[in-house]
Amino acid sequence: PATLFASIEMAPRDPILGITEAYNADKNPNKSNLGVGVYYDDNGKVPLLECVRKAEALLMEKPAARSYLPIDGLAAYDKAVQELVFGADSKVIQEKRAVTAQALGGTGGLKLGADFLKRFSPNSQVWISDPSWENHRALFESAGFVVNNYPYYDAATKGVNFEGMIGSLKTIPAGSIVVLHACCHNPTGADLTDAQWKEVIQVVTERGLIPFLDMAYQGFGDGIAEDGKVVRQFAEAGGPVFISNSFSKSFSLYGERVGALSIVAVTADEAARVLSQLKRVIRTNYSNPPTHGGQVVATVLSTPELRKLWEDELAGMRVRIREMREAFVNKLKEKAPDHNFDFVTKQRGMFSYSGLTKPQVDKLRDEYAIYAVDTGRICVAALNTRNIDYVIDAIAKVIK
Ligand code: PLP
Repeated sequence: PATLFASIEMAPRDPILGITEAYNADKNPNKSNLGVGVYYDDNGKVPLLECVRKAEALLMEKPAARSYLPIDGLAAYDKAVQELVFGADSKVIQEKRAVTAQALGGTGGLKLGADFLKRFSPNSQVWISDPSWENHRALFESAGFVVNNYPYYDAATKGVNFEGMIGSLKTIPAGSIVVLHACCHNPTGADLTDAQWKEVIQVVTERGLIPFLDMAYQGFGDGIAEDGKVVRQFAEAGGPVFISNSFSKSFSLYGERVGALSIVAVTADEAARVLSQLKRVIRTNYSNPPTHGGQVVATVLSTPELRKLWEDELAGMRVRIREMREAFVNKLKEKAPDHNFDFVTKQRGMFSYSGLTKPQVDKLRDEYAIYAVDTGRICVAALNTRNIDYVIDAIAKVIK
């Protein structure tokens, strides 16, 4: 009927994309966009990794027809992802208790897991950290779940409110789905310590909660294996565990949509049944994933020279971010000695909850053309050797 769309309201704008639109329209030559969620190199550009370029060249040497991939994706990709996420010598792989399906980025992995859980644990509620990646709540709600927050960030200490978090995990009902950032918490940059993870794994396992690990930044914290440690510890605790992982950042392949969902079951027989049902979820959503990104990642991960190159390039990104964190802290020590920003070097991953208030963020934008998220989140990977002095000068002035 002609009235179908008449009462539809405009959806709210995506806050982060809104920042980028305003930034693009800004004429100030010193403008800096610290609101983004991608890794920029020292030239302020999204890099094309050399390992990706080489893998694409290899693939082009033997151009292949583009038939459909299997529903759960390229077998070589799923295998390589499992070995990366769980470790090549993992018991859950040997025991065939882990299943992995290629997904449309980390978001796709989360959505497959959410749809699967809605089918098989329909009365569970979901618990996400306060705060969390802004899409977690909307994604699980759109899959039909009630979404709650567990305490996470403590603005006073600029770290994790661990007592609040663990206290909450000790009281929520058995069967609840707990979304955890495996490393490099987005948006705060504040991660749990090894001892705190141990306690979380114990409480989650003993209380029969369903852990759903979101790993979008493997390799951006302390290293590939180091960042994946939590996934392995959860898997060894017995399962079930859900893991969504993404190569958007670690391969700088944002637009190719490469990620995966892995599920650890308690037995191999269970795992086979789980995979069969997961394929139904995929089939009724988008049938099967695209070929290119998966092939690039599988080629890099399974070709020793390219794998080495990737690990070096990923280490380069990790080290550059760390250097920017150190420069940020040291330069602010000079310009604003009354303020302590030491917490910025303790944070992990691409982001920092900088402690800047909304009025300070507004002032940075209006007076200095520096764009950050209203919460004070800045993308440390958007800092570089050319913009950092200007940014630090401006921050020092707005916090005076
Ligand atoms: N999960 C978290 C915590 C993220 O920060 C992001 C990306 O920003 C994603 C998932 C989604 O990743 P992808 O772009 O691969 O869908």
